[in-house]
Amino acid sequence: MLRFENIRKSYTTGDVTVDALKGVAAHIHAGETVSLCGPSGSGKSTLLNICGLLDERYQGEIWINDRPIPKQKSALTQIRREKLGFIFQRYNLIPVMSVFENIEYPLLMLNLNKQQRMDRVVEIVHKVGLKDHISKRPDQLSGGQQQRVAIARALVKKPELVIADEPTANLDTPTANMVMDLMRDLGNDMGTTFIIATHDHRMTDRCHRVLNLADGHITEQLQQADNRRAG
Ligand code: ADP
Ligand code: ADP
Repeated sequence: MLRFENIRKSYTTGDVTVDALKGVAAHIHAGETVSLCGPSGSGKSTLLNICGLLDERYQGEIWINDRPIPKQKSALTQIRREKLGFIFQRYNLIPVMSVFENIEYPLLMLNLNKQQRMDRVVEIVHKVGLKDHISKRPDQLSGGQQQRVAIARALVKKPELVIADEPTANLDTPTANMVMDLMRDLGNDMGTTFIIATHDHRMTDRCHRVLNLADGHITEQLQQADNRRAG
């Protein structure tokens, strides 16, 4: 589904250059949940931004479904809208909107009528187990529930790839485990690919595969045998 090769990226500030990514490659399959692991400064955010088509200034190549990704901003924006969803550490929900409205929000840009949007929201709300909470506002929910709203919002457009940046960092262990399992199981169920950046080693055994980043290199790829992948 997603393939990247020889990805390099440097940042230059004044006359200091940092090589954040020094030639990384991976091939990620449809429905696979991959965690991107590594200490602070290892290049996780840089790689996530590139895979999330938020940054076109890098060397190397990316393919989505065997089509090369161009490096023009407008083309990236278009592909991002059609194919990608995002989940953040701090949930990034809109506080004045209900759970329903937050999840519906990405659909407003698509050509769907009210009933079609309602059907999509109801379907995903059931999948994330929030049907009793749809009229609440984010501040009436626990952290784990807010992150489930954010997962529903990321998935409601049925993206092929979801990029998650430290999605469990603000959650206690049982809640973090539940959120990780939910993402992996929804990925299996809907065929969605997840790339999850984390420095939380508790999370990595709940993914299909772990890419370990250190100092701008992928140093290790671990296949997690027990987490079955569909397709
Ligand atoms: P991680 O997400 O694993 O903490 P990053 O991708 O944020 O790693 O950073 C990788 C390296 O690139 C670090 O050395 C960091 O200081 C540097 N870096 C990241 N963003 C910038 C930036 N905008 N300008 C300069 N250096 C940066
Ligand atoms: P074509 O290459 O068939 O002329 P376009 O480049 O005009 O197609 O894109 C057609 C649609 O496919 C657009 O909506 C665009 O967002 C999407 N698209 C283009 N390149 C890619 C890609 N590498 N991966 C995923 N979708 C893409």
